[in-house]
Amino acid sequence: MKFDAWYTEPQTENLSLSTKLKDILYVGQSEYQEIQVLDTYEFGRVLILENTYQTTERDEFIYHELISHPALFTHGNPKKVLVIGGGDGGSVREVLKHKSVEKIDFVELDGQVVEVAKKFLPTLSCEIDNEKVNTIITDGIKYVAETSEKYDVILVDCPDPVGPAAGLFEKEFYNNLYKCLNDDGIMVQQTESPLLHEKLINKIKGHLKDAGFSTIRPLVCSIPTYPSGFWSFTLASKKNDPLNSDVSEIENKLKDMTTKYYDQDVHKGVFLATPRYLKE
Ligand code: SAM
Repeated sequence: MKFDAWYTEPQTENLSLSTKLKDILYVGQSEYQEIQVLDTYEFGRVLILENTYQTTERDEFIYHELISHPALFTHGNPKKVLVIGGGDGGSVREVLKHKSVEKIDFVELDGQVVEVAKKFLPTLSCEIDNEKVNTIITDGIKYVAETSEKYDVILVDCPDPVGPAAGLFEKEFYNNLYKCLNDDGIMVQQTESPLLHEKLINKIKGHLKDAGFSTIRPLVCSIPTYPSGFWSFTLASKKNDPLNSDVSEIENKLKDMTTKYYDQDVHKGVFLATPRYLKE
């Protein structure tokens, strides 16, 4: 099918991002949200939930490499990892690049997102059925409140803080993440735009500090399809600081690993090149 149509995401009350469509591949309604997969000229296939860009084939590597590798390499020997959200599978794919990882508990609220990603986004979802991945379809907020499992690294690969994801940005959730981490555990979460959501980033930092994390470091990058194009993650650690990582060890391990964005320079660079107003 060929047509001249555009998809527009209203990103804030006063800002939108439009992309020209090649095709509409999927539109469906799950128990939790509207799910769309569009094929676009500029970004390839795009996953949209509730009218919000989640991930695109073209720029997903920036997001998925930065949510996973800085935390996993800072830990040094991660064996057991929890991924909360991330139904497209991109984070699971990156975590599995670490040979030390023995098990990933992949806790996603919406099983339909996982099924749609498996069908329409194979480059992201390709490792979801790996034998090390234990997919659990449930609410991540409830999961961390109730589980007695302990993890080396937890990735919170969540959407914006609305609807069922709102509680993934609240104090109680961070206290439970702290409880679910081993003594040298590390968590990392996507924490929205440093330009548009500075207050939220500071609120999260406060919650992480109150939860007991000794090192809290924001990192920033550019993700063209997210509001403002300027994005942040926040890493919180009980013991290791990414700025003290042995970069030659990282360089060595990367010889057996394919990454497109992350390398030994990016490891410290993303934290060091974070704007002054966020570090302070
Ligand atoms: N990987 C994406 C990217 O590149 O930006 C991030 C978005 S990922 C698709 C977000 C996922 O979090 C969605 O699939 C959504 O269903 C899931 N989610 C939302 N609230 C959740 C919750 N409370 N517990 C677990 N998963 C949740």
